[in-house]
Amino acid sequence: MSDIELALVGLGTIARAQHLPAIAATPGMTLTAVASRNARLDGVANFTDIDTLLDEMHDVQAVSLCTPPQGRFEQAMAVLRADCHLMLEKPPGATLTELQILAAEARLRSLTLFTTWHSREAAAVDVARDWLADRVVHATHIDWCEDVRKWHPGQDWIWQPGGLGVFDPGINALSILTAVLPDPVRLTGADLHIPENRQTPIAAELTMDAGHPVTARLDWRQQGADLWQIRFDTDAGTALLDQGGARFSVDGEPVAQGDNAEYARLYARFRDLIANGDSDLDLSPLRLVADAFLTGRRHAAPEFQDQDP
Ligand code: NAP
Repeated sequence: MSDIELALVGLGTIARAQHLPAIAATPGMTLTAVASRNARLDGVANFTDIDTLLDEMHDVQAVSLCTPPQGRFEQAMAVLRADCHLMLEKPPGATLTELQILAAEARLRSLTLFTTWHSREAAAVDVARDWLADRVVHATHIDWCEDVRKWHPGQDWIWQPGGLGVFDPGINALSILTAVLPDPVRLTGADLHIPENRQTPIAAELTMDAGHPVTARLDWRQQGADLWQIRFDTDAGTALLDQGGARFSVDGEPVAQGDNAEYARLYARFRDLIANGDSDLDLSPLRLVADAFLTGRRHAAPEFQDQDP
Protein backbone atom coordinates (compact mmCIF):
# COMPACT_ATOMS: atom_id res chain seq x y z
CA MET A 1 0.00 0.00 0.00
CA SER A 2 1.31 3.49 -0.77
CA ASP A 3 2.10 5.97 1.99
CA ILE A 4 -0.58 8.29 3.36
CA GLU A 5 0.21 11.81 2.12
CA LEU A 6 0.10 14.15 5.09
CA ALA A 7 -0.01 17.93 5.50
CA LEU A 8 0.84 19.87 8.64
CA VAL A 9 -0.61 23.24 9.64
CA GLY A 10 1.13 25.66 12.05
CA LEU A 11 4.89 25.39 12.01
CA GLY A 12 5.50 26.54 15.59
CA THR A 13 7.30 25.18 18.65
CA ILE A 14 5.67 21.77 18.93
CA ALA A 15 5.47 21.14 15.19
CA ARG A 16 9.23 21.57 14.83
CA ALA A 17 10.28 19.91 18.09
CA GLN A 18 8.03 16.83 17.94
CA HIS A 19 5.76 16.50 14.91
CA LEU A 20 8.34 16.75 12.13
CA PRO A 21 10.75 14.15 13.60
CA ALA A 22 7.87 11.82 14.53
CA ILE A 23 6.33 11.98 11.04
CA ALA A 24 9.73 11.33 9.45
CA ALA A 25 10.11 8.24 11.64
CA THR A 26 6.61 6.83 10.97
CA PRO A 27 6.44 4.17 8.24
CA GLY A 28 3.42 4.49 5.98
CA MET A 29 3.18 8.28 6.17
CA THR A 30 4.89 11.01 4.17
CA LEU A 31 4.74 14.75 4.81
CA THR A 32 4.14 16.46 1.47
CA ALA A 33 2.85 19.93 2.40
CA VAL A 34 2.88 22.56 5.13
CA ALA A 35 0.67 25.59 5.74
CA SER A 36 2.28 28.35 7.76
CA ARG A 37 1.72 32.09 7.73
CA ASN A 38 5.32 32.86 8.57
CA ALA A 39 7.57 29.83 8.18
CA ARG A 40 8.72 27.52 5.37
CA LEU A 41 9.92 23.94 5.33
CA ASP A 42 12.38 22.63 2.77
CA GLY A 43 11.45 19.58 0.69
CA VAL A 44 7.65 19.95 0.82
CA ALA A 45 5.05 22.19 -0.83
CA ASN A 46 4.58 25.39 1.20
CA PHE A 47 1.36 27.42 1.54
CA THR A 48 0.42 30.37 3.72
CA ASP A 49 -3.04 29.02 4.56
CA ILE A 50 -4.87 25.72 4.79
CA ASP A 51 -7.56 26.59 2.23
CA THR A 52 -5.05 27.12 -0.58
CA LEU A 53 -3.21 23.98 0.44
CA LEU A 54 -6.38 21.91 0.25
CA ASP A 55 -7.36 23.53 -3.07
CA GLU A 56 -4.04 22.73 -4.71
CA MET A 57 -2.80 19.52 -3.07
CA HIS A 58 -5.38 16.98 -4.17
CA ASP A 59 -3.24 14.01 -3.16
CA VAL A 60 -3.12 15.04 0.50
CA GLN A 61 -5.19 12.50 2.45
CA ALA A 62 -4.62 13.57 6.04
CA VAL A 63 -3.88 16.80 7.93
CA SER A 64 -2.36 17.41 11.33
CA LEU A 65 -3.25 20.73 13.00
CA CYS A 66 -0.58 22.18 15.30
CA THR A 67 -2.02 25.68 15.62
CA PRO A 68 -3.39 27.19 18.86
CA PRO A 69 -6.90 26.01 19.85
CA GLN A 70 -8.53 29.35 18.99
CA GLY A 71 -9.34 29.35 15.29
CA ARG A 72 -8.83 25.61 14.85
CA PHE A 73 -12.49 24.93 14.15
CA GLU A 74 -12.50 26.65 10.75
CA GLN A 75 -9.27 24.92 9.77
CA ALA A 76 -10.55 21.55 10.97
CA MET A 77 -13.86 21.91 9.13
CA ALA A 78 -12.03 22.85 5.92
CA VAL A 79 -9.92 19.69 6.25
CA LEU A 80 -12.95 17.43 6.71
CA ARG A 81 -14.88 19.12 3.88
CA ALA A 82 -11.89 18.39 1.64
CA ASP A 83 -12.39 14.72 2.61
CA CYS A 84 -9.12 14.48 4.52
CA HIS A 85 -8.53 12.64 7.78
CA LEU A 86 -7.81 14.94 10.72
CA MET A 87 -5.45 14.86 13.69
CA LEU A 88 -5.69 17.58 16.35
CA GLU A 89 -3.04 18.71 18.85
CA LYS A 90 -4.20 19.03 22.43
CA PRO A 91 -6.41 20.73 23.45
CA PRO A 92 -8.49 19.60 20.49
CA GLY A 93 -10.47 22.83 20.27
CA ALA A 94 -11.61 25.96 22.02
CA THR A 95 -15.10 24.62 22.87
CA LEU A 96 -16.79 21.27 23.39
CA THR A 97 -19.56 22.10 20.93
CA GLU A 98 -17.19 22.68 18.03
CA LEU A 99 -15.75 19.22 18.60
CA GLN A 100 -19.20 17.64 18.53
CA ILE A 101 -19.83 19.35 15.20
CA LEU A 102 -16.48 18.14 13.83
CA ALA A 103 -17.18 14.62 15.06
CA ALA A 104 -20.53 14.59 13.25
CA GLU A 105 -18.92 15.85 10.02
CA ALA A 106 -16.17 13.20 10.25
CA ARG A 107 -18.76 10.46 10.83
CA LEU A 108 -20.88 11.66 7.90
CA ARG A 109 -17.87 11.49 5.59
CA SER A 110 -16.40 8.26 7.07
CA LEU A 111 -13.20 10.09 7.94
CA THR A 112 -10.82 9.55 10.84
CA LEU A 113 -10.87 12.20 13.57
CA PHE A 114 -8.10 11.83 16.16
CA THR A 115 -8.02 14.13 19.18
CA THR A 116 -4.53 13.50 20.53
CA TRP A 117 -3.36 13.60 24.14
CA HIS A 118 0.40 13.27 23.86
CA SER A 119 1.02 12.86 27.60
CA ARG A 120 -1.02 9.66 27.60
CA GLU A 121 1.70 8.21 25.36
CA ALA A 122 4.46 8.91 27.91
CA ALA A 123 6.57 5.86 28.69
CA ALA A 124 5.14 4.82 32.08
CA VAL A 125 1.46 5.75 31.72
CA ASP A 126 0.23 2.34 30.52
CA VAL A 127 2.14 0.59 33.32
CA ALA A 128 0.62 2.95 35.89
CA ARG A 129 -2.91 2.30 34.53
CA ASP A 130 -2.43 -1.48 34.70
CA TRP A 131 -0.94 -1.30 38.21
CA LEU A 132 -3.76 0.92 39.49
CA ALA A 133 -6.44 -1.37 38.01
CA ASP A 134 -5.76 -3.96 40.76
CA ARG A 135 -5.51 -1.52 43.68
CA VAL A 136 -7.82 0.50 45.87
CA VAL A 137 -6.92 4.18 45.51
CA HIS A 138 -7.62 6.28 48.61
CA ALA A 139 -6.46 9.67 47.28
CA THR A 140 -4.82 11.17 44.20
CA HIS A 141 -2.87 14.41 44.02
CA ILE A 142 -1.51 16.23 40.95
CA ASP A 143 1.35 18.76 41.00
CA TRP A 144 1.81 20.25 37.53
CA CYS A 145 4.10 23.22 37.97
CA GLU A 146 6.43 24.83 35.45
CA ASP A 147 7.85 28.24 34.63
CA VAL A 148 5.69 29.85 31.94
CA ARG A 149 8.56 32.12 30.89
CA LYS A 150 10.69 29.04 30.14
CA TRP A 151 8.09 27.00 28.22
CA HIS A 152 5.91 29.64 26.54
CA PRO A 153 8.09 32.67 25.83
CA GLY A 154 6.22 35.26 23.78
CA GLN A 155 3.19 33.00 23.19
CA ASP A 156 0.37 35.50 23.42
CA TRP A 157 -2.45 33.07 22.53
CA ILE A 158 -2.13 31.19 25.85
CA TRP A 159 -3.23 34.37 27.67
CA GLN A 160 -6.15 35.10 25.31
CA PRO A 161 -9.70 33.72 25.77
CA GLY A 162 -9.66 30.08 24.69
CA GLY A 163 -5.91 29.83 25.31
CA LEU A 164 -6.45 27.99 28.63
CA GLY A 165 -3.59 29.63 30.53
CA VAL A 166 -2.08 27.20 33.04
CA PHE A 167 -4.55 24.56 31.82
CA ASP A 168 -2.56 24.39 28.57
CA PRO A 169 0.02 22.21 30.37
CA GLY A 170 -2.46 21.24 33.11
CA ILE A 171 -4.72 19.47 30.61
CA ASN A 172 -1.83 17.04 30.06
CA ALA A 173 -2.11 15.98 33.69
CA LEU A 174 -5.88 15.66 33.33
CA SER A 175 -5.42 13.56 30.19
CA ILE A 176 -3.23 11.14 32.15
CA LEU A 177 -5.59 11.16 35.13
CA THR A 178 -8.61 10.25 33.02
CA ALA A 179 -6.62 7.49 31.30
CA VAL A 180 -5.21 5.76 34.39
CA LEU A 181 -8.07 5.91 36.90
CA PRO A 182 -10.70 3.23 36.37
CA ASP A 183 -13.62 5.45 37.46
CA PRO A 184 -14.91 8.59 35.72
CA VAL A 185 -13.51 11.84 37.11
CA ARG A 186 -15.88 14.69 38.08
CA LEU A 187 -14.78 18.22 38.91
CA THR A 188 -16.14 19.43 42.25
CA GLY A 189 -14.33 22.75 42.73
CA ALA A 190 -11.78 25.11 41.23
CA ASP A 191 -9.86 28.23 42.23
CA LEU A 192 -8.50 30.19 39.28
CA HIS A 193 -5.79 32.83 39.75
CA ILE A 194 -5.94 35.27 36.84
CA PRO A 195 -3.37 38.06 36.43
CA GLU A 196 -5.06 41.45 36.27
CA ASN A 197 -3.65 42.13 32.78
CA ARG A 198 -4.51 38.68 31.31
CA GLN A 199 -7.59 36.65 30.36
CA THR A 200 -6.51 33.17 31.51
CA PRO A 201 -5.25 31.73 34.81
CA ILE A 202 -1.59 31.58 35.79
CA ALA A 203 -2.42 29.05 38.53
CA ALA A 204 -5.31 26.88 39.62
CA GLU A 205 -6.28 24.48 42.38
CA LEU A 206 -8.84 21.80 41.60
CA THR A 207 -10.83 19.28 43.57
CA MET A 208 -12.33 16.27 41.83
CA ASP A 209 -14.10 13.03 42.64
CA ALA A 210 -13.18 9.71 41.09
CA GLY A 211 -14.74 7.44 43.70
CA HIS A 212 -11.98 8.88 45.91
CA PRO A 213 -10.80 12.48 46.41
CA VAL A 214 -8.52 13.95 43.75
CA THR A 215 -6.75 17.29 44.15
CA ALA A 216 -4.60 19.23 41.71
CA ARG A 217 -2.22 22.17 41.91
CA LEU A 218 -1.39 23.73 38.56
CA ASP A 219 1.11 26.58 38.67
CA TRP A 220 2.99 28.50 36.02
CA ARG A 221 4.99 30.50 38.60
CA GLN A 222 7.31 27.59 39.36
CA GLN A 223 10.97 28.47 39.77
CA GLY A 224 13.66 25.83 39.40
CA ALA A 225 12.89 22.29 38.25
CA ASP A 226 9.58 21.47 36.56
CA LEU A 227 7.21 19.40 38.66
CA TRP A 228 4.93 17.21 36.53
CA GLN A 229 3.73 14.44 38.81
CA ILE A 230 0.68 12.52 40.04
CA ARG A 231 0.70 10.73 43.41
CA PHE A 232 -1.68 7.88 44.22
CA ASP A 233 -2.19 6.78 47.83
CA THR A 234 -3.34 3.15 47.56
CA ASP A 235 -3.89 0.02 49.63
CA ALA A 236 -0.57 -1.24 48.22
CA GLY A 237 1.55 1.82 48.93
CA THR A 238 2.19 5.26 47.48
CA ALA A 239 2.65 5.28 43.73
CA LEU A 240 4.21 8.19 41.86
CA LEU A 241 3.91 8.92 38.16
CA ASP A 242 6.38 11.71 37.53
CA GLN A 243 8.48 13.41 34.86
CA GLY A 244 5.25 14.04 32.95
CA GLY A 245 4.42 10.31 32.87
CA ALA A 246 7.85 9.04 31.89
CA ARG A 247 8.58 7.36 35.25
CA PHE A 248 6.47 5.24 37.62
CA SER A 249 7.54 4.15 41.09
CA VAL A 250 5.89 2.57 44.11
CA ASP A 251 7.09 3.47 47.62
CA GLY A 252 10.21 4.92 46.00
CA GLU A 253 11.04 1.74 44.06
CA PRO A 254 11.23 2.21 40.26
CA VAL A 255 8.63 0.20 38.32
CA ALA A 256 8.85 1.69 34.83
CA GLN A 257 10.78 4.39 33.03
CA GLY A 258 11.42 5.11 29.38
CA ASP A 259 12.43 7.56 26.71
CA ASN A 260 10.00 10.00 25.12
CA ALA A 261 8.26 8.38 22.13
CA GLU A 262 4.97 10.23 22.62
CA TYR A 263 4.62 11.69 19.13
CA ALA A 264 5.92 8.61 17.33
CA ARG A 265 3.15 6.67 19.07
CA LEU A 266 0.56 9.30 18.11
CA TYR A 267 1.43 9.21 14.40
CA ALA A 268 1.53 5.40 14.34
CA ARG A 269 -1.92 5.41 15.90
CA PHE A 270 -3.22 8.02 13.42
CA ARG A 271 -1.98 5.84 10.55
CA ASP A 272 -3.64 2.75 12.07
CA LEU A 273 -6.91 4.56 12.78
CA ILE A 274 -7.04 5.64 9.12
CA ALA A 275 -6.27 2.11 7.93
CA ASN A 276 -9.05 0.68 10.10
CA GLY A 277 -11.60 3.39 9.35
CA ASP A 278 -11.78 4.38 13.04
CA SER A 279 -11.76 7.60 15.03
CA ASP A 280 -10.49 8.38 18.53
CA LEU A 281 -12.30 11.23 20.20
CA ASP A 282 -12.00 11.44 23.98
CA LEU A 283 -12.99 14.83 25.31
CA SER A 284 -12.88 14.02 29.04
CA PRO A 285 -9.77 16.16 29.79
CA LEU A 286 -11.29 19.18 28.02
CA ARG A 287 -14.59 18.63 29.86
CA LEU A 288 -12.81 18.94 33.21
CA VAL A 289 -11.17 22.18 32.08
CA ALA A 290 -14.50 23.53 30.79
CA ASP A 291 -16.10 22.63 34.13
CA ALA A 292 -13.33 24.48 35.99
CA PHE A 293 -14.00 27.60 33.89
CA LEU A 294 -17.79 27.15 34.36
CA THR A 295 -17.76 26.74 38.13
CA GLY A 296 -14.39 28.01 39.37
CA ARG A 297 -13.89 30.87 41.80
CA ARG A 298 -11.87 33.71 40.22
CA HIS A 299 -9.06 35.36 42.17
CA ALA A 300 -7.15 38.42 40.95
CA ALA A 301 -3.41 37.76 40.70
CA PRO A 302 -0.64 40.34 40.19
CA GLU A 303 -0.03 41.50 36.62
CA PHE A 304 2.17 39.18 34.60
CA GLN A 305 4.82 40.38 32.14
CA ASP A 306 6.69 38.07 29.76
CA GLN A 307 10.00 39.53 30.94
CA ASP A 308 10.91 40.06 34.58
CA PRO A 309 10.68 43.83 35.27
P1 NAP B 1 3.34 28.17 18.90
O1 NAP B 1 4.79 27.97 19.11
O2 NAP B 1 2.75 29.49 19.22
O3 NAP B 1 3.02 27.73 17.43
C1 NAP B 1 1.72 27.73 16.91
C2 NAP B 1 1.79 28.03 15.44
O4 NAP B 1 0.47 28.06 14.95
C3 NAP B 1 2.41 29.36 15.13
O5 NAP B 1 3.79 29.25 14.93
C4 NAP B 1 1.69 29.77 13.89
O6 NAP B 1 2.38 29.18 12.85
C5 NAP B 1 0.35 29.04 13.92
N1 NAP B 1 -0.78 29.95 14.19
C6 NAP B 1 -1.91 30.02 13.45
N2 NAP B 1 -2.74 30.90 13.97
C7 NAP B 1 -2.14 31.44 15.03
C8 NAP B 1 -2.52 32.45 15.97
N3 NAP B 1 -3.70 33.08 15.91
N4 NAP B 1 -1.65 32.76 16.96
C9 NAP B 1 -0.45 32.12 17.06
N5 NAP B 1 -0.06 31.16 16.17
C10 NAP B 1 -0.90 30.82 15.19
O7 NAP B 1 2.49 27.12 19.77
P2 NAP B 1 2.91 25.63 20.13
O8 NAP B 1 3.60 25.63 21.44
O9 NAP B 1 3.54 24.95 18.99
O10 NAP B 1 1.45 25.05 20.41
C11 NAP B 1 0.56 24.69 19.38
C12 NAP B 1 -0.39 23.65 19.91
O11 NAP B 1 0.39 22.53 20.35
C13 NAP B 1 -1.19 24.12 21.14
O12 NAP B 1 -2.46 23.58 21.13
C14 NAP B 1 -0.38 23.55 22.32
O13 NAP B 1 -1.19 23.31 23.45
C15 NAP B 1 0.11 22.24 21.72
N6 NAP B 1 1.32 21.72 22.35
C16 NAP B 1 2.38 22.52 22.65
C17 NAP B 1 3.48 21.98 23.31
C18 NAP B 1 4.71 22.81 23.66
O14 NAP B 1 5.54 22.35 24.47
N7 NAP B 1 4.93 23.98 23.10
C19 NAP B 1 3.51 20.65 23.66
C20 NAP B 1 2.44 19.85 23.29
C21 NAP B 1 1.35 20.39 22.65
P3 NAP B 1 2.61 29.92 11.49
O15 NAP B 1 3.29 31.21 11.82
O16 NAP B 1 3.47 28.91 10.88
O17 NAP B 1 1.29 30.10 10.85
